[in-house]
Amino acid sequence: MPLHAELHRHLGGSIVPRIFWRFLHRQGHPLALDFPDYDDFEDFVTRPRNSLSEFLELHTMIEQVQTIRTLPYFITKLVRGAYVFEGLVYLELRHTPYYRTDHQREEAERILQMREVVRVIRDAANLPDYPLRLRQILCMHSRLPNHINRAIIELAARERDTVCAVDLAGPDVLYQERIPEFIELFQYARLLGLKTTCHLFETANGAYPELLPYVDRIGHGIHIPLQMPELLPQIRDRGQCLEVCPTSYLKTGTLQSLESLRRVFVECEKANVDIAICTDNPGLHNVRLPFEYENLLSLDIIDFHMLRRCQNAAFRHAFAWPHREPPDNILPLLTGSGSPAPFTERG
Ligand SMILES: [Zn+2]
Repeated sequence: MPLHAELHRHLGGSIVPRIFWRFLHRQGHPLALDFPDYDDFEDFVTRPRNSLSEFLELHTMIEQVQTIRTLPYFITKLVRGAYVFEGLVYLELRHTPYYRTDHQREEAERILQMREVVRVIRDAANLPDYPLRLRQILCMHSRLPNHINRAIIELAARERDTVCAVDLAGPDVLYQERIPEFIELFQYARLLGLKTTCHLFETANGAYPELLPYVDRIGHGIHIPLQMPELLPQIRDRGQCLEVCPTSYLKTGTLQSLESLRRVFVECEKANVDIAICTDNPGLHNVRLPFEYENLLSLDIIDFHMLRRCQNAAFRHAFAWPHREPPDNILPLLTGSGSPAPFTERG
């Protein structure tokens, strides 16, 4: 099994429908009444939506179920599956901690409770039989007020043993009014020594080039090569990587077919901009990382050479992979084929 790194995955979209449905029924959750049959539930969560905003309503539904009390259950299942079925050895898992706090409490208490959310996830992900390296990315959200987003950054800076970066997520139509505020937040995060990524150029109306200089990686970014390829040289010069999540674009109605991604890969290769292939929501989409790879290969959108470049780029652009090289560079030592590349710590 090759060893993969995943850089863009949401906690809310990570649980496969079967596990989620079974959980609702075992717990006697009110949502279980809406879905007595599994097939209807799977159909409901995996069917394509018309827009990103409509798709994000699914996350809201799941966030209500993923509370501090239930998170260990979901994290354990997630880590096991990622290690065994996807060959992941490195996973950056993102979430908005505020939305996992107790909705009944006052705002100030919920802000304090975010720390517990982060620590519960950290502890639940530590499974010696499934030794993948999991780090959290804390997402600011375009629906949250400035002071909560700021508190998310400060929390990230305090919990560095498990948090590797901050992100901005939520409907991108809501960015428009708040660009100066978001720039200031990203500057603040960097001042505290945090890495940054941002959902940008994901949909045709998510083009906010003003934010690009403030992020280390670009969440999606597919509409840069499609709409504004003139930005690619700057992106290369900044050493930024695109986190491309193929199945997502079909589920959120952003693309009608994956064919358009061919241009994304070709233009980026020409401009020397790295791409990491990611899943975004492997549970909600029912598509795990190796199948994202395989789909792109079978549709002839990329070839094996490009795939290997992207797989290596994922380790190179990972915020908390501790080595210079991807782990499969030492496999020849184990398998006795070829000669292993040197495996060194990151400087
Ligand atoms: Zn995302």
